[in-house]
Amino acid sequence: MSTEKGPNFLEEIIAEDIKNGKHGGRVLTRFPPEPNGYLHIGHSKSICVNFGLAQEFGGTTNLRFDDTNPEKEETEYVESIMADVKWLGFQWANVFYASDYFDQIYEFAVTLIKHGLAYVDDSTAEQIAAQKGTPTEPGTHGPYRDRSVEENLDLFTRMKNGEYKDGEKVLRAKIDMSSPNMHMRDPIMYRIKHAHHHRTGDKWCIYPMYDFAHGQCDSIEKITHSICTLEFEVHKPLYEWFIEQLEIFPSKQYEFARLNLNYTVMSKRKLLQLVKEGYVNSWDDPRMPTISGLRRRGYSPEAIRNFATRVGVARRENIIDVGFLEFCVREDLNKRANRVMAVLDPIKLVITNYPEGQEETLIGENNPEAENHGGTRPLPFSNELWIEREDFMVEPPKKFFRLGPGLSVRLKHAYIVRCDEFKVDENNNVTEIHCTYFPESKSGSDTSGIVVKGVIHWVSAKHALPAEIRLYDRLFNVEDPSSEEGDFKDFINKDSLEVITNAYVEPSLKDSKPGDYFQFIRKGYFCPDTDSTSSKLVFNRTVTLKDAWAKEQKKD
Ligand code: ATP
Ligand code: MG
Repeated sequence: MSTEKGPNFLEEIIAEDIKNGKHGGRVLTRFPPEPNGYLHIGHSKSICVNFGLAQEFGGTTNLRFDDTNPEKEETEYVESIMADVKWLGFQWANVFYASDYFDQIYEFAVTLIKHGLAYVDDSTAEQIAAQKGTPTEPGTHGPYRDRSVEENLDLFTRMKNGEYKDGEKVLRAKIDMSSPNMHMRDPIMYRIKHAHHHRTGDKWCIYPMYDFAHGQCDSIEKITHSICTLEFEVHKPLYEWFIEQLEIFPSKQYEFARLNLNYTVMSKRKLLQLVKEGYVNSWDDPRMPTISGLRRRGYSPEAIRNFATRVGVARRENIIDVGFLEFCVREDLNKRANRVMAVLDPIKLVITNYPEGQEETLIGENNPEAENHGGTRPLPFSNELWIEREDFMVEPPKKFFRLGPGLSVRLKHAYIVRCDEFKVDENNNVTEIHCTYFPESKSGSDTSGIVVKGVIHWVSAKHALPAEIRLYDRLFNVEDPSSEEGDFKDFINKDSLEVITNAYVEPSLKDSKPGDYFQFIRKGYFCPDTDSTSSKLVFNRTVTLKDAWAKEQKKD
């Protein structure tokens, strides 16, 4: 977790605790997602911080599902969260659910009632809100605040037994209605919800609030460092108050700034809307900022972990440019992705002096950036090839080092060819390019003496495999859709997905599978989509490369 800049503030705190022998030098963190959606890139930061710190200091991490909102939580989400954490490369010591502790948390509430520190309140939500006052005005005491311990115990038992309807009563902590911290003004501990829970079924009809569950779970598990995001800072006095009053294990809360990324949204509630309302195809749609979406898009776990580490841990909020995430994945894939050839917008190139029916197998080097160049693969070659339409121009400008009438170019891993003529259809669209090849210019044993500046990719028409290719752009047109006026969905980029159905890829990709990483030479990084099969190949573009020609054009 530490960067060139030295240890971050959480590392300093933990190192100091260990030095002082706090908790016997033990470090136990937890990652506490609510299973109400899929994890997103923001969560990956929290995962890297919690698991990363534990690893660094010889400790362990629990995965804890914060499942205290029965209506919104589902087993599907639990499973996806576990898969995502594992895929990111982390292993929890234990998996727990807040619901595992419902009995214990209920007993904690009873204890507080017995100490005169909690009461049952019959006020409506509006009345409770009115009693709370405002940040500048103290709150007021409601009519139920001074109920006796006996009455409170009786009413709370009856709440649990299902004698009341939703919203009829709540259990509140009796703290301080004039505290400057609004969270200390008799916060609600339990509410009635006659709802089926994904794990406890219909056993409970009262559920603890976040503030009366989170710290209690931390304490039950003896979490040493409970690390969360800054919005919980104002909850900290309450977190500590409950732990002190209950005299339970003193877990401590520490906050860091959330990860924010531009051109996307990162709240599970909003991501759910995108899925439910069909703006994307699923939670793992490659345009989604979810971990499963990024995985399907072709991000490696290493790229995401590296991104999270480099973004760093701070207490200052900021927005990270999505370009930095793309930089991290490019850097990682550059090392791991095999270079292969795919033609996205094909046009036929016929080599007129290469005998029809003749074939030869050339050698493709897999990855110049990898050890031993990543090995090689066979590349079949014949007289008819597919090349990229944009690699040919009828009237090429000066700096265009590709094909045009009379121009020569090298075919990657193959020969130099010279364009002699081209054919057009009735609309003047080029349909075929005719070239001569130079047999002595073969890559690796070139004795031709011909010098060319450009190298283009190709696939042998006879051997090429048809493929569908999905190109993605940002899902939103504005940097921060959530802060714009109106509905965030008004800012969706309608062109965020482009599907190419007539592409061709080299035959070595026949058995490629999701989880493989490729660079399509000159076109970007791509991966097989989960829809891909050996009879219908589908690839996602993970991220583009930087295109020297496009840059050149912009300069002019
Ligand atoms: P969301 O608002 O996206 O639904 P959440 O905070 O409600 O997120 P939880 O499932 O409660 O989601 O979060 C689990 C953990 O992940 C919490 O500790 C939370 O602080 C952390 N987390 C959530 N979003 C981010 C983020 N953008 N950056 C860093 N940590 C995050
Ligand atoms: Mg939450």
